[in-house]
Amino acid sequence: MKAENSSKAAAATNFVRNIVEEDLRTGKYASRRWGGRPGPAAAHAGAPADPARIRTRFPPEPNGYLHIGHAKSILLNFGLARDYGGLCHMRFDDTNPTKEEQEYVDSILDAVRWLGGDWGEHLYYASDYFETLYRFAEMFIEHGLAYVESLSADELRALRGTLTEGGENSPYRDRPPAESLDLFRRMRAGEFPDGAHVLRLKIDMASGNINMRDPVIYRIRHAHHHRTGDAWCIYPMYDYTHCISDALENITHSICTLEFEDHRPLYDWVLERLADFGALARPLPRQIEFARLNLTYVVLSKRKLIQLVEDGHVEGWDDPRLPTIVGFRRRGYTPESLQLFAERIGVAKENSTIDMSILEDCLREDLNERAPRRIAVLDPVKLVIDNYPEGSEEQCQAPNHPQKPEWGQRAIPFSRELWIEREDFMENPSKGYFRLSPGAEVRLRYAYIVKCERVEKDASGNVAVIHCSYDPASKSSQGQLPDPGRAGASGAEKKKVKGNIHWLSAQHAAAGKVRLYDRLFRVSNPGAGSVEFLAEINPDSKSSISAWLEPALTEAKPEERFQFERHGYFVADLKDSKAGAPVFNRAVTLRDSWGKAGS
Ligand code: ATP
Ligand code: MG
Repeated sequence: MKAENSSKAAAATNFVRNIVEEDLRTGKYASRRWGGRPGPAAAHAGAPADPARIRTRFPPEPNGYLHIGHAKSILLNFGLARDYGGLCHMRFDDTNPTKEEQEYVDSILDAVRWLGGDWGEHLYYASDYFETLYRFAEMFIEHGLAYVESLSADELRALRGTLTEGGENSPYRDRPPAESLDLFRRMRAGEFPDGAHVLRLKIDMASGNINMRDPVIYRIRHAHHHRTGDAWCIYPMYDYTHCISDALENITHSICTLEFEDHRPLYDWVLERLADFGALARPLPRQIEFARLNLTYVVLSKRKLIQLVEDGHVEGWDDPRLPTIVGFRRRGYTPESLQLFAERIGVAKENSTIDMSILEDCLREDLNERAPRRIAVLDPVKLVIDNYPEGSEEQCQAPNHPQKPEWGQRAIPFSRELWIEREDFMENPSKGYFRLSPGAEVRLRYAYIVKCERVEKDASGNVAVIHCSYDPASKSSQGQLPDPGRAGASGAEKKKVKGNIHWLSAQHAAAGKVRLYDRLFRVSNPGAGSVEFLAEINPDSKSSISAWLEPALTEAKPEERFQFERHGYFVADLKDSKAGAPVFNRAVTLRDSWGKAGS
């Protein structure tokens, strides 16, 4: 979310932006008083009204690592705040004590920061509001709009009704407020075991919307909480907590995914009643739903991601094959590539599944601009130039970026013995194969034209050494492929060869580890059919090879990204790459390889 992207982002309008612009135009929030840090009083008193400010929030539950779907939500919420001069709060929705951990909190903050999300001082936890939420719950009881329910979970389910039929009133529904209040206080005091009672709102058991059928808002849970410790043994439910947290923080636009559409009447009901009680000030936050991101060839459900990690199908949350933000980061994705992706797919009201290739294209586009070019030989075979003087060496010039002369050139050492890619030689070339074969000529990129004279084979018949001769007058000038029509080009440079291959000098090349990744699943929609998603894991999604690299690559810093010519974009691994012992991950392949395209 760098400034240079903001105009681009602002240009791509969508229905959420339209709502925000309309609210700003009509001054919907102009009457609102803006508090500093939220608290029970902040919604009433605080700094003067500031109608120009919208407030959004990103509210993850700290029960897993963030994935690309969350990135969409982060970029949307922080992007709105940035583009409309507002604020975006970072809030942990930590109401479930048993599934939440500090490790997740830390990783989530890191991921949001990496994506460019800036919450300033506005970092909150729903658990900060436990006391206020409790007081508000007492208010609901006192107003006859909540009651303590003492049926068992099974009995409750039986009365709940279905999607097509209304539910039935519980015998405890008309419990006098004083009795409910007493029981609720004793619930808080820890007098009852888990499950003995719950607190329910009193709305409408006949409602066509199941969320409005007297939803449970508190349950007893004798469990340790990652922030409040053992202070509480009753915990508020998500629907009740979320809307109130938004209101306490003066959120204007509460953006969530479509599955919460049916929860919106409850969101509004809770806040409207609290405003009626005088506990909150209008205008209240507005919930807006957008379509969640679904992506082919990955799973985005937290449950499934946890299973992949905990059962050892991948090597941790930051495995470069996972669609987690930490995984993408290690894979070589940049925040800008994810921003580009978010802009390209837009924000819609209809659920859809985006093809993984769109994301990969965004990465290519971004890395094409920022990644210097380097050479690596991944599957080496030896090439010896028999007429090149033994013991000699020279430098060849190669541009750091073919479209960016200002990035300059680097010298690549050349000598008599080289490594080339095994696939750049064919003993019996097929039609249209323009690389090396017996008798054929090819340009060693940035260097000379060579001709294959003969091959040596090993005991099992594999090509071991390719012997060539070179044309000393054919050296490529200054890093550019020779332009045959260019004035001043030597006669040799005018000589045309169709093939163009990369190489490294054997005595100078550095050894390095390179990891090649493929999609984690074999099918585009894992787990959609009758087969369990784990059975659809691609067994060949990772291979690790030892490759030959341009000498300077051994000094690559973790997260430094390069294009290895013809092989794709690579990143020095964040964790495993060390100076002198580089480890590269392939982020994405190139669309076309210049070996073919260049002919
Ligand atoms: P859970 O099943 O645990 O609720 P979740 O993926 O919804 O999982 P949250 O931590 O609740 O996780 O999500 C935080 C925010 O990210 C929410 O506002 C949610 O709507 C949004 N979000 C989650 N998944 C996606 C997705 N696939 N696309 C867009 N936004 C998403
Ligand atoms: Mg959720």
